[in-house]
Amino acid sequence: MSIKKITQIFALDPWELTEADILTVLQTPWQVLAPYARSLAEAHKGRHVFVRGLVEFSNICRRNCRYCGLRFQNKNLHRYRLTQEEILQAVACARQAGVDTVVLQSGEVPCAAWLGEVVRQIKSQFNLPVTLSVGEHSAEDYALWRDAGADRYLIKHETADAALYAALHPGHSLQERLRAIGTLQHLGYEVGGGFMIGLPGQNLAILARDILLCRDLRLSMIGAGPFLAQDDTPLAGERNGTTEMTLRTMAALRLANPEANIPATTALATLDAQNGQANGLWAGGNVLMPSFTPPEAAALYTIYDNKNRVSVRNAAAVIESLGMTHPLKMPDSEY
Ligand code: SAH
Ligand code: SF4
Repeated sequence: MSIKKITQIFALDPWELTEADILTVLQTPWQVLAPYARSLAEAHKGRHVFVRGLVEFSNICRRNCRYCGLRFQNKNLHRYRLTQEEILQAVACARQAGVDTVVLQSGEVPCAAWLGEVVRQIKSQFNLPVTLSVGEHSAEDYALWRDAGADRYLIKHETADAALYAALHPGHSLQERLRAIGTLQHLGYEVGGGFMIGLPGQNLAILARDILLCRDLRLSMIGAGPFLAQDDTPLAGERNGTTEMTLRTMAALRLANPEANIPATTALATLDAQNGQANGLWAGGNVLMPSFTPPEAAALYTIYDNKNRVSVRNAAAVIESLGMTHPLKMPDSEY
């Protein structure tokens, strides 16, 4: 790695970037990359940090993703689903705190009419963009939620390697995932995607392809967090992704996707509670995602172990300490 080479790569247009360029970036310490990534982020997104309010409304799931603690075959988990009333209360707190959008996230289960009603209620009671993150469904269901007022959809490709994707998602394919992303974009959703860093079986070349795939999909939002082993999954005991590689990846994502909204993920804040969010913003991120899930439910939303709870207070403090701006009003509530 030479500084000259990194300076040259960060001057390239995203569409000129090759896998070799991304590999060079991924082999460079994040502290070297951060000033380049931050100045790109500021040139394209300013010094403002967007804040999404996360409501994890159910941990019930029909899928068996091998990395995730919510997988169907995990019988060690008490399953819950918040009522419409509880979701609306959580959204009210998020609205009051000043978030830019509310993200409704859950495991994957058929819930078309019920979720449509929740979206309709949120849109009529609160003046907020609604983001869904509820897995793969039929085009009809996506359309129904869009008609109900849903604006954005988060659905990660998880890994750009088709063989690794198939190994991690029994009975499913990368192709089917990419088709879902295309369908959602076609329906007019702003679509967010992303992948995990440090998955068992991943290597640097796959990671470079993950980054370029996000560019090629023209995603509006890109979430890339470290893989964190969960005890009740087949990947229990595997090595976690690292903060170093996550931050290098975020810098590379900003380079390849200068206009995208890129969060410092909760998974990064879980690996490094002290500095995860701040470092994520330095490495090119421009979004934080505090949780508004009621604490009893949040404790059961164990996609990975020791999940950190990013609070509004916490998010605001991190942003302010970096001299950046945010939309948050200081909450009176416990959130
Ligand atoms: N069920 C929906 C949304 C909830 S899961 C879906 O799968 O799309 C949200 C994200 O959690 C997934 O996209 C995945 O990237 C992440 N995730 C799941 N298990 C994880 C783990 N063990 N470590 C890190 N991230 C994980
Ligand atoms: Fe279910 Fe999503 Fe977890 Fe897969 S990642 S098991 S779809 S909650």
